[in-house]
Amino acid sequence: MSFLKTPIEYLKGVGTARADMLKKEMGIFVFADLLFHFPYRYVDRSTIYDISDIHGEMPYIQLKGKITNFRTVGKSKTQRLVATFSDATGHLELVWFQGAKWVREAITENKEYLVFGKPTEFNGSINIAHPTIDEPDAAGQKKYLRIMPFYNVTDRMRVKGLDTKAIMKLTNNLLNDPKFEVEENLPLTILSSQKLLSRKEALLQIHFPENNDRLKHAEQRLKFEELFFIQLRLLRYKLKRTQLFNGINLEKIGDYFNTFYNEKLPFELTDAQKRVIKEIRADVKSNKQMNRLLQGDVGSGKTVVALMCMLIALDNGYQACMMAPTEILAQQHLQTITTLLGDMNVNVKLLTGSTKTKERKVIHEGILNGEIQILIGTHAIIEQIVKFKNLGFAVIDEQHRFGVEQRSKLWNKNIYPPHVLIMTATPIPRTLAMTLYGDLDTSVINELPAGRKPIRTEHRFDNNRLRVNGFMREQIALGRQIYIVYPLIAESEKMDFKNLQDGFENMSREFPLPQYQICMVHGKMKPKEKEFEMQRFVRGEANIMVATTVIEVGVNIPNASVMIIESAERFGLSQLHQLRGRVGRGADQSFCILMTSFKLSADAKLRMNTMCKTNDGFEISEVDLKLRGPGELEGTQQSGVLDLRIADIAKDQIILQKARDIAQQILMVDPNLNKPENAQLLTYFTEFSKHQKWGRIS
Ligand code: ADP
Ligand code: MG
Repeated sequence: MSFLKTPIEYLKGVGTARADMLKKEMGIFVFADLLFHFPYRYVDRSTIYDISDIHGEMPYIQLKGKITNFRTVGKSKTQRLVATFSDATGHLELVWFQGAKWVREAITENKEYLVFGKPTEFNGSINIAHPTIDEPDAAGQKKYLRIMPFYNVTDRMRVKGLDTKAIMKLTNNLLNDPKFEVEENLPLTILSSQKLLSRKEALLQIHFPENNDRLKHAEQRLKFEELFFIQLRLLRYKLKRTQLFNGINLEKIGDYFNTFYNEKLPFELTDAQKRVIKEIRADVKSNKQMNRLLQGDVGSGKTVVALMCMLIALDNGYQACMMAPTEILAQQHLQTITTLLGDMNVNVKLLTGSTKTKERKVIHEGILNGEIQILIGTHAIIEQIVKFKNLGFAVIDEQHRFGVEQRSKLWNKNIYPPHVLIMTATPIPRTLAMTLYGDLDTSVINELPAGRKPIRTEHRFDNNRLRVNGFMREQIALGRQIYIVYPLIAESEKMDFKNLQDGFENMSREFPLPQYQICMVHGKMKPKEKEFEMQRFVRGEANIMVATTVIEVGVNIPNASVMIIESAERFGLSQLHQLRGRVGRGADQSFCILMTSFKLSADAKLRMNTMCKTNDGFEISEVDLKLRGPGELEGTQQSGVLDLRIADIAKDQIILQKARDIAQQILMVDPNLNKPENAQLLTYFTEFSKHQKWGRIS
């Protein structure tokens, strides 16, 4: 058994009680778990200051000297323990508001100590409240005069004395065990070309850095390693997939595609749309299975691209399907697609959760015998019972709402996996895409159809509401329709709901019947009611729709040209951008108004400014990533790919790109990692792959 797999109870300083605590509270079972429990921050105690140099504006500092006397000051509630602490250059006061008894017992007067804390100036004299006090390092020892690691511990651990200092001690015991050994997992060539520390050295330095420079190097090495193995896994998976399976060959362009293109397509495709169709076309006739991510902002025209690709499948005698995250969206796709196809003879059917049993049976049969050529639907289409005759092309719309598991189900629908096109309107920063969808090829529609006017976005404070109302009246007089969106965020749902109701009432007073019609849609309504209200707006009967974010991925209403977002500061950037995408779909100038209170955090200001400045989803997503970190972005939570220990997708873009490039280079020469120089890689990689939680990515 390797040293690092030794159960944690065998570590010096850990008994059964502590072992239990470490397992339960931190998931630390073996030595390796402790070793990879990295500090979350460091405090530089490598310097000792002179008391004469200390002033109240300094951050944490360390001193060396003696306590010359203790005294108790103040009465009852304000009582505190004060000590005079001096070195050769002067003296200051140490203060304790609690724990006086313990301090008196633990500390000896006139003995030398290291004192660490934050100095404050009060009435012209300096004091340090609740300082950390340690005995000076013995000769040759470097316990405290160094960059000190701080470890996350839970309250329960702290109560039992298993605090950050205790973890530091245990880690120190581990690193100083004579049997301590860490195997290198990167080839020498990478270490030297990337100037990386050895694995062992990096692990020593990450816990007990010699200096800040060494710490940086240790971080660099461990981040690289973490990202590298993820990329190696993704790329190797992609390679295997293409080696293992022949893709269905969709070589022919036939009547379906040509008729549609020549006779039915109601507009000229944008250059971006043409480019993407070409990319997909090249894939599907390459004898390799396609897995492609198509990113394109809302309104960029992804649906028609998907349809044309599905028609290519039909031209080659295969079926196609398209899966959407919600029933409304699936219905909308059905309508869009049947309208676009017009009188072309294509059998398109809809299958969702609410399809009646009888009809469902008929559809299941039609899919199995091949009569149904295009199936549109929700999750219902990936249920086990749904069997295609020969599915050739599968489209997943608004991908981020599907988990990894669901994607892989689709994949298993044939003996040969169908080509898969994943479409998302949530632009993902490049680095995030590299990790989340690292095994997919990507296409981007970065151009809106001609004639669209960019949406004008303005930020208004609540006290400008009268003018905003005036603007709304003007727009309604021009025949436009307006969305007003209220936040509905789980933690304060009740209050949010009240806001929505109040908003509706205010609007009803400002825009009274019979001149104005207002409808309201929110998540708590029965589907029937919701549908009814929705339809009033779709048909143009209602001028204003008051809603929660349920309209985020919703219907396409070109005449709705104003989006007002209430309490906009409470929304994340990507959500604001998604909401804004509901307007700007027609030929008229569209507007988005962000209403906020006057007092805004710096983050909120940046979000509002970014929205006003740009309509570019990618630019917005980059800012979002920097503000919130990858864990908060939509679609990342369920993936598990981002349970990163040390690397940060937002900050470590350069390392990530390097890691991916190098993984790519290695696999190009040695796809199965069989060469002797990659032996270490293979050993570690095999182990690592076993422990990764994420399922197969479609
Ligand atoms: P999304 O990418 O958000 O799914 P859609 O596919 O719903 O966008 O397209 C938005 C609207 O733009 C639809 O009404 C569609 O018919 C229209 N559209 C798509 N491509 C073009 C184009 N090249 N020229 C004009 N209109 C287009
Ligand atoms: Mg769409």
